[in-house]
Amino acid sequence: MDTRAGATTPPAAAAVALVVVVAFGCAPSARLSARPRAAAVLDPYLLVLGTAQDGGLPHAACTCPRCDAARLDPRRRRRIASVAIIVPGTGHRFLVDATPDLREQLDLLPALGRPVTGAVDRAPVDGILLTHAHAGHYLGLAFFGFEAVHTSRLPVHATPRMAAFLRANAPWSRLVSREEIVLDEMPAGLTFTLDAGVRVTPFTVPHRDEDSDTVGFMIAGPRHSIVYVPDTDTWATWSVAALETLAACDTALIDGTFFAAGELPGRDVRAIGHPLMVETMDRLGEDVRAGRLRVLFTHLNHSNHALDPDGPERRAIRERGFDLAKEGQRLPL
Ligand SMILES: [Zn+2]
Ligand SMILES: [Zn+2]
Ligand SMILES: [Zn+2]
Repeated sequence: MDTRAGATTPPAAAAVALVVVVAFGCAPSARLSARPRAAAVLDPYLLVLGTAQDGGLPHAACTCPRCDAARLDPRRRRRIASVAIIVPGTGHRFLVDATPDLREQLDLLPALGRPVTGAVDRAPVDGILLTHAHAGHYLGLAFFGFEAVHTSRLPVHATPRMAAFLRANAPWSRLVSREEIVLDEMPAGLTFTLDAGVRVTPFTVPHRDEDSDTVGFMIAGPRHSIVYVPDTDTWATWSVAALETLAACDTALIDGTFFAAGELPGRDVRAIGHPLMVETMDRLGEDVRAGRLRVLFTHLNHSNHALDPDGPERRAIRERGFDLAKEGQRLPL
């Protein structure tokens, strides 16, 4: 039997079915939002899957008060930074980065009418875009290998240097040789069509580039353009081209690793890199106040005081018109 939604169902009924699936197949917070119009429901959107720095929250092996609070209260936990690009019109789902929290993050994806098989879905996503080769951003690729999902020719979009790294180093090279993944090289600065109505432009951002270079993404849909940069060095090191890309978007999910200098006792966070939240708010505050730009912080380190729900740092962020990205949050494209 052909199980494709459109094969045996009239187009109008299929559209209604898709609306129902989209409305109820999403994360709880999204479900509570106002009932969207049918046209908007079929538009692509970004779904936030995680907002923590590579070590997660609670951070691996850390017993600081913030990490212990997250162990006791699940509402304070944050999965490692990632977003999905969801395209209800085609039923496709894409990941931006493959984190060590990938197993749980796959469970956050809306079903979009995919048939329930009662077994491992060997094609749980339709593609993956990678920012760079640091632990929190690509280790989850391992779950697509023979030991777990065992995908077949899953497209992985990576810069030429990132692709070369995966091709040359085990265990990633085995994913390539077994054709569990297929590397699609995306040069920085070149726009490509990811799916119907969704165009993606990777752009180079400065970062500690030991094994790969690092990119952010401009993700453009029919209504909105969103920049996603979870990991970067300070604003002063950004190229003109990268700044111009940021200026062209209306929503930005930006590296919020640290709130302010002096956050890590005994270490200078400026030496570690990352734009401080306070600096980002100074730099982009005028665009935010004028309503030209919406900024959501992601990739928060466990040391970041903005993680405290009732703290003055969180309040200051809100008062300046900025916010933290939240798991389950949908951002229309
Ligand atoms: Zn990172
Ligand atoms: Zn900690
Ligand atoms: Zn990194």
